[in-house]
Amino acid sequence: MIKKTPILLSLVLCVACNVETPPKVTGPPQDVSGQAPGQEQLEKTLIHNAKIYTMDVGFSTADAILFDSSGRIHNVGGEEAMLEAFPDAMHIDLRGKTIIPGLIDSHAHLYGLALSLSQAQLRDTASKEEVIQRLREQESHLSEGDWLLGRGWDQNDWPVKEFPSRADLDSAFPGRPVWLRRIDGHAGWANSVALAMADQDLSGDWQPRGGFIYRDAQGQASGVLVDGAMELVEKAVPAVSPKLLQASLGLALQQMVSLGLTGVHDMGVDQSVVELYQQRIDAGQFPTRAYTFTDGAGKTLDWLCSNGTYEDASGRLYMRATKLYIDGAMGSRGAALLADYSDDSGNSGLLFMPAADLEAKIDKAMACGFQVGIHAIGDRGNRVTLDALEAALKRHPENPGRHRVEHSQILTAEDIPRFETLDVIAAMQPTHATSDMYWVEDRLGAERVLYAYAWRSLLDSGARLALGSDFPVEQVNPMLGIHAAVTRQDTKGWPPGGWYPDEKLSREEAVRGFTLDAAYAAFMEKSVGSLESGKRADFIVLEQNVFEIEASEIANIRVLQTWLDGELVYSYP
Ligand SMILES: [Zn+2]
Repeated sequence: MIKKTPILLSLVLCVACNVETPPKVTGPPQDVSGQAPGQEQLEKTLIHNAKIYTMDVGFSTADAILFDSSGRIHNVGGEEAMLEAFPDAMHIDLRGKTIIPGLIDSHAHLYGLALSLSQAQLRDTASKEEVIQRLREQESHLSEGDWLLGRGWDQNDWPVKEFPSRADLDSAFPGRPVWLRRIDGHAGWANSVALAMADQDLSGDWQPRGGFIYRDAQGQASGVLVDGAMELVEKAVPAVSPKLLQASLGLALQQMVSLGLTGVHDMGVDQSVVELYQQRIDAGQFPTRAYTFTDGAGKTLDWLCSNGTYEDASGRLYMRATKLYIDGAMGSRGAALLADYSDDSGNSGLLFMPAADLEAKIDKAMACGFQVGIHAIGDRGNRVTLDALEAALKRHPENPGRHRVEHSQILTAEDIPRFETLDVIAAMQPTHATSDMYWVEDRLGAERVLYAYAWRSLLDSGARLALGSDFPVEQVNPMLGIHAAVTRQDTKGWPPGGWYPDEKLSREEAVRGFTLDAAYAAFMEKSVGSLESGKRADFIVLEQNVFEIEASEIANIRVLQTWLDGELVYSYP
């Protein structure tokens, strides 16, 4: 999966090609005088004629970057001086393209993405033929005997809007069980092999409780099972095989790096997932950095507490944080609000646990020296979380801090300044706002919505934002997050001017939330998050300049190359 140097060579050979005028160095001059002793034998690469946004604290720019085969950045600065000082480095002319630090998704589910990729994605298929085509692609990752699973089909998207049948699948997949869940999860579509693996004969005229079996004129199950009938087949579906899981994780990682993500804060994983990642790291197949959070304060935290925080020498896997939950989500009215939902009187949502239990879990994690990230969506969920953190911080002055509220979605005017006061990071996902904006005001009313997804208010109060996507709940592409943060619009430009536009971020703030501040939120700001001498050479090459392109086009920016530790781990074909 790790591509080596073909594109690099083509760029080197192209030094004499049509070259755009190099941009001016506007950043402070940096030391280009030499190198640390003992590093003379390292291979050096000098990328020049680039528009480099270092994302350092001063937001400086440059047009050349030098790094070596140890994966560390030597210098970032002016092209002329660097070309002169390092004539022996391998030179790559970037022809005016943009470089920014590798992006870091500060709240996502890498393992969840892998699980979803272990199934075929059938959403938005235009026909049954397209379903078969996607299934064939998925089958190429399977071993003999694996079930071919998929989800997301909707017959309303097809020319003939009728339920499909087992015969549609049988000719393409005669020897392997196929089971495909409908988009709403309320029906499944099986081939004959899968139907035959149900634990009872599906033919006849009987129906299961709470479900329905579609049958043909001969009384044979025709392939679609509804609600309570689905489990007749689902009971036979085995757990994802380790081999398929590894293949799916490979796809998930490849998707990440192809979209410019060199880091992810991976929420809620257990020991087996850490071991899965470790296997890939040992095999040299983990082209990103995962900063993982435990799944609560249970077994995984116990394991880590007794062994100390987990840190792989490669710098690609860390575990020193705990993920907790206090409430649910807005869509299902599970988020805990201080007053009733505006569209559901008598319902103010639910806390998952009493405040005292949350405090006990925070205590346990802090006593191990861990950082905590608490999922809080509603204004009550956030209030209880901030109260619990405030109390726990007093009891654990030795804890290194940087605790986080994951989502920080609905706040009150009084609670916004507490993030800064308590030095708590708001870990937020800009695309949640643009996904929810169509209906969330109905839930909250005109008053409370003013303190929802309040990125700007939080920043202005002095709080630090770490931005992310929450993939696979939202799409993986971080450019969608930057676009949403800057425009508060969907990718079609709705609503004009942006949804509650006072809360928009500038491009610099949005990119910082996906780089240096995301690194800070994982205690990694000294090694990644900006392009500065001594840091790891994690950076991406963009086809368009994220700081200059039309805001509406940010979501379409293409990543041309992704570099991790000074190694090219992705290049656009
Ligand atoms: Zn999440």
